[in-house]
Amino acid sequence: MKLSKFNTFINYKNKFISYNAISNEFMLLEPVLYDLLETTKNSVTGLKEVHPDFYQALIKNQFIVESNLDEVKQVKDYSHLVDSNESHYLLIINPTMNCNFKCWYCYESHESSSKMTIQTIESVKKLITKIVSDERIKSFSLSWFGGEPLLYFKDVIKPISEYTLELCEKHNVLLNSDYTTNGYLINEETANFFKRYKTRQIQITLDGNREKHNTIRYISKTKGSYDVIIKNVSLLCDKGLSVRLRINYTEETLKGIRDIIDDLKIFTKKQREFLQIAFHQVWQDDSNLTEETNLIIKEFRDKGFFVTTHDNPDNVRSSCYADRVNHSTINYNGEVFKCTARDFNSKNKEGDLTEEGNIIWNEKHNIRMDSKFKNSPCLDCNILPICNGGCTQHAIDNENKDYCIYKFDKEKINQVVLNKFLQTIDS
Ligand code: SF4
Ligand code: SF4
Repeated sequence: MKLSKFNTFINYKNKFISYNAISNEFMLLEPVLYDLLETTKNSVTGLKEVHPDFYQALIKNQFIVESNLDEVKQVKDYSHLVDSNESHYLLIINPTMNCNFKCWYCYESHESSSKMTIQTIESVKKLITKIVSDERIKSFSLSWFGGEPLLYFKDVIKPISEYTLELCEKHNVLLNSDYTTNGYLINEETANFFKRYKTRQIQITLDGNREKHNTIRYISKTKGSYDVIIKNVSLLCDKGLSVRLRINYTEETLKGIRDIIDDLKIFTKKQREFLQIAFHQVWQDDSNLTEETNLIIKEFRDKGFFVTTHDNPDNVRSSCYADRVNHSTINYNGEVFKCTARDFNSKNKEGDLTEEGNIIWNEKHNIRMDSKFKNSPCLDCNILPICNGGCTQHAIDNENKDYCIYKFDKEKINQVVLNKFLQTIDS
């Protein structure tokens, strides 16, 4: 027997948090047990004699494994299983690259004339027919993205959703939909439509409190969007539709985030059941805000809100859709992508949708799908089973060079485990 290579030990309040990334199990060890483990680590079987119960607990939670076990292969096999799951398909559609907002950070990329044409809609329907009628498919997710997808609710979303629901019912395939929208165009009609067409979640973003949000996400210099968004989130929750309210923050905007609690006071207990709040530090800001964010999260939770954070990676068990075989993102013009966090320009496309509803993938796609487990520092890292170098986009961006998404900073890597632990004891 040997110690697993995926163990992490962190000194925490006079004890040791022990985490195994492959079993995803924690054990909180008294110092005496940690010391015992330390002294016997070169021959763990010795531990069996000294403390059999402890030894068995370590085996049960996979801190100790068979000597000949190839743990990296175990992770690779599991990753392959997840990424090549054939029973589910996720199709993301961008009806347009245009938007009704003029946020400084993406206004430049607005394409005002962009709109999915009737011909492309027909090709998308053909693609959906091929996917849904494949007998391996048991569930299908339709995800609306953009630009602002609701700009073309009637012309694009409605016909494709109606077609898909009918098809899924015919083939006994479970359908769910979700929307990433700025939330401004939601009304009674769209909310009722969401309800009818199997909507699982609507994601809407706030860029800080009212004052801050309105300086970033506005209709015009004199017309913000905050109050309309809060009203529309309330409407959705009222109808029993699940909303993920993503709150973006930076060091500068974090202080004002508490104001949002006041603005959400109008939400009834029932409405709160449908509201999930997700904190998200914008990627351009790499200051360590964990402590302050945790305090704010607690305040939201104390007021009865359900809060999640992005600080809990699980990139193998729950890999990004872009890593998976059964996923494609169709842009309004029929170009096909995988990652939705990069520009949808022709240079980045990974395929094209043909008139007959087939996707012709290109070399970029082949490179992506073969990019995992190529970064040697990850293969030697104790959190490989939950991190794995991020996602395929990270792997592609760092092709042919050693990298670490935490910049090889041991403290940051331990912080990932600590956050996981804190969230475990919190939930
Ligand atoms: S950046 Fe990575 S995690 Fe984000 S959408 Fe792209 S592939 Fe997925
Ligand atoms: S990116 Fe860094 S932390 Fe993540 S698995 Fe690779 S080496 Fe470990």
